[in-house]
Amino acid sequence: MRVLITGGAGFIGANLCAFLTGFPGVRGVVALDDLSTGSAANLEGSSAELVEGSILDRPLLDQLAAAADTVVHLAARPSVPRSLADPVASHDVNATGTMNVLEACRASGAHLILASSSSVYGDTEVTPKHEDLATRPLSPYGASKLAAEAYTLAYGSSFGLPVLPLRFFNVYGPLQAAGHAYAAVIPAFVDAALRGEPVTVHGDGEQTRDFTYVGTVVRLLADAALRRVTSPAPVNLAFGTRITVNHLVTLIGEILGKPPATRHVPARLGDVRHSQAACDQLTRLFPTVDPVPLGDGLKHTVAWF
Ligand code: NAD
Repeated sequence: MRVLITGGAGFIGANLCAFLTGFPGVRGVVALDDLSTGSAANLEGSSAELVEGSILDRPLLDQLAAAADTVVHLAARPSVPRSLADPVASHDVNATGTMNVLEACRASGAHLILASSSSVYGDTEVTPKHEDLATRPLSPYGASKLAAEAYTLAYGSSFGLPVLPLRFFNVYGPLQAAGHAYAAVIPAFVDAALRGEPVTVHGDGEQTRDFTYVGTVVRLLADAALRRVTSPAPVNLAFGTRITVNHLVTLIGEILGKPPATRHVPARLGDVRHSQAACDQLTRLFPTVDPVPLGDGLKHTVAWF
């Protein structure tokens, strides 16, 4: 099997490249990345071939997808705040870029696995979030992911493209960058705590998140690629284990042996209050999946820093 990973030099993509290196049945891995948030250094230790380029380059995508059996489409402008700063740029990469990937897969017949996001649900009091819930994105990022997901489903039904749209929740682990304005909560907290600085909590910290360790995500993506798993509807990729941000601070303090100081700032525009996945669809498609528990995943993450 030959795999094309768009966004392959990013956090999840590089972890997937490393996992697939030497994986039985995998003959070649190509990472297509414009290195806007990813980096070539992330691919050290993997035998993936890095092609520096953009998913907005149709001829390049066509050429790469023609040589792939499965495309794992991770390339995106991630982050809610980034999309608030420049909604059109998020649309261009996340929605139009996904159209390009779909067209390339339509031409080649490649299986497509899409990284959508829990942000498509928006703010709803209903937890856990089941895939049948109405989608009401709060941010341009969520809207762009919903558009990508809708087009992916439409290509599945209209053209018989084999697709698997997965709604990632909060993924964390090694290679997730800290130290920039759009850093995700776990690397931002670990980085601050290790430097002896207060961690910045948005709002009261009682908002909840459903965290999934990246090792669990890449094992599942590899399994999906090898078994060519498809779904005619979006599938949550998380395990329903939500915790509050305040509790997360406590857990990180326990691992470091010292509770970090906290600094509270106003809640962020576009952030949802509670996030927890229903995972019955996921476990139906992946009955043997065995997620890494949060405590273990946090220890691996802290060890990586
Ligand atoms: P990331 O920023 O580390 O990876 C995205 C990669 O895409 C980067 O390497 C970036 O350089 C690349 N990229 C951006 N624009 C590109 C373009 N035009 N052409 C080619 N490459 C481009 O982010 P990540 O956390 O690894 O996220 C991977 C995917 O998972 C994204 O689609 C993201 O929206 C989705 N997702 C992630 C999370 C999470 O918690 N990390 C949650 C929900 C959804």
